[in-house]
Amino acid sequence: MKERIKLIKGNIVDQEVDAIVNAANSSLSGGGGVDGAIHRAGGPSIAEECRVIREKQGGCPTGHAVITGAGNLKAKYVIHAVGPIWKGGNHNEDNLLASAYIESLKLADEYNVKTIAFPSISTGAYGFPIERAAKIALRVVSDYLEGSDIKEVRFILFSDKDYEVYSKVYEGLS
Ligand code: ADP
Repeated sequence: MKERIKLIKGNIVDQEVDAIVNAANSSLSGGGGVDGAIHRAGGPSIAEECRVIREKQGGCPTGHAVITGAGNLKAKYVIHAVGPIWKGGNHNEDNLLASAYIESLKLADEYNVKTIAFPSISTGAYGFPIERAAKIALRVVSDYLEGSDIKEVRFILFSDKDYEVYSKVYEGLS
């Protein structure tokens, strides 16, 4: 289902989609990178909703995702996905990354989301090698879409280099 995937170079906070995915941390307590950008642009209601979830369920384990409103963003929802911290590749990182994408897509389906934008989860501060991450991300999303009503999945790449890496992997995707 790669036809329903689009690669875009840009800033995820500007996307007009039903849901934006955040590369969150397991304490849902905010950080730098894409998380900082989303909280800054969306305003304090997102952090407040994250606080409520944290108090209820103690955060979000790696490989899972939770959903909040999107505050001042154009989207309806922010899906906070927790990708793995890269520890050399033998600590289940690949499966945990795949799971972060799949759990986000399951939440999207549950909330009737038809258009969704992902950042490149785990490839910033969490240090996951980007080509390896892109292969996993594009494969699992493409496969998931076979059984889903989601119409469009955008990958928002923040740098030219990231965009190039994702484009190459996309070309090779069957
Ligand atoms: P992680 O901790 O999961 O690695 P980061 O936010 O540090 O998350 O980085 C994930 C990716 O998001 C990186 O490729 C980074 O360049 C990118 N990124 C940072 N800010 C934005 C943004 N505003 N929109 C889209 N991507 C962004």
